[in-house]
Amino acid sequence: MFKSRFMPCQACGASVDRSGRPRHECLPERRTDFEMFGLRDEIAQLEVEVSCYLATASGRFSSWLAARQVRRRS
Ligand SMILES: [Zn+2]
Repeated sequence: MFKSRFMPCQACGASVDRSGRPRHECLPERRTDFEMFGLRDEIAQLEVEVSCYLATASGRFSSWLAARQVRRRS
């Protein structure tokens, strides 16, 4: 079986040389993008849940109250 010289970093998804030279260090921006990509389904679900909440009476009141508080501060 063919074994690639490169493999993806488990933390950031970058293609990393198995020999370890040069030593791989995750770039913070790449790591964040990789983690956000892994959470994309949960993020999409959260957006749906927030939209559903904001459509309820309680959600509409919370939205109105937040807007009122922002107006008072400015
Ligand atoms: Zn990495």
